[in-house]
Amino acid sequence: MNAVSPESAAFPGLVDSHCHLDFPDFDGKMAEIREEMRVNGVTHALCISVNLPGFPKVLDIAEAHDNFFATVGVHPDHEDRTAVDRARLVQLARHPRVVAIGETGLDYYRVSGDLEWQRERFRAHIRAARECGKPLVIHTRQAAEDTLTIMREEGAGEVGGVMHCFTESQAVADAAVELGFHISFSGIVTFKNAGALKDVARQVPLERLLVETDSPYLAPVPHRGKINRPGLVRHVAEEVARLRGASLSELAAATTANFFRLFKDGTSRS
Ligand SMILES: [Zn+2]
Ligand SMILES: [Zn+2]
Repeated sequence: MNAVSPESAAFPGLVDSHCHLDFPDFDGKMAEIREEMRVNGVTHALCISVNLPGFPKVLDIAEAHDNFFATVGVHPDHEDRTAVDRARLVQLARHPRVVAIGETGLDYYRVSGDLEWQRERFRAHIRAARECGKPLVIHTRQAAEDTLTIMREEGAGEVGGVMHCFTESQAVADAAVELGFHISFSGIVTFKNAGALKDVARQVPLERLLVETDSPYLAPVPHRGKINRPGLVRHVAEEVARLRGASLSELAAATTANFFRLFKDGTSRS
């Protein structure tokens, strides 16, 4: 195993594929967030939109820093149930710093009742992604079967994307990979009680793996319970590397190459 320190210039660099740096937890903290990323060898981060009123702040972050990118989308938990305008999503996604559509998907855990509006919203995002040719960032919670069905019905495989903060079974991971999607692991994979998920992290094909923090949520061990930050994706990567018998450098090289292959529009690494 090759032990290149994340602080050394030879370290390939890690990417946090999913964070919410526009949330108020991070107001006024950008300098310390970026310094912590640097110290941990985290070179880039993808800032995820959760609703359209909040999108300008997400885009501002990606415009202010050339190692941050943005997505545009309305989270399945977002309470305003009015239909999402697909044409509006497509228009916002044309911005060169916007590299994906999302986060979108289904969440039957946090929201209940008749969720047809949530499924329609998810369909609108997939249609927008196909229209603008950008990949999808998909959130699924207690809704894996319907998520996969809608992905198939709407042709999500044409653009691909990522199943973010993955917590589902091996069968769901296999189905998503089959559809051309990537699987992103968060701090949950570092938790002691995450045995089944650790097994999935051993099995996902290396060329479909990503890592993320979902900051400010889900801080990995040994920071569990604290406010999560992109620099801590290193702990997620270390655990996934350990599970696969790989070095941190190997895992970083693979996941970072995967990130830039997937989110190729707007992320040219000049
Ligand atoms: Zn999510
Ligand atoms: Zn998120």
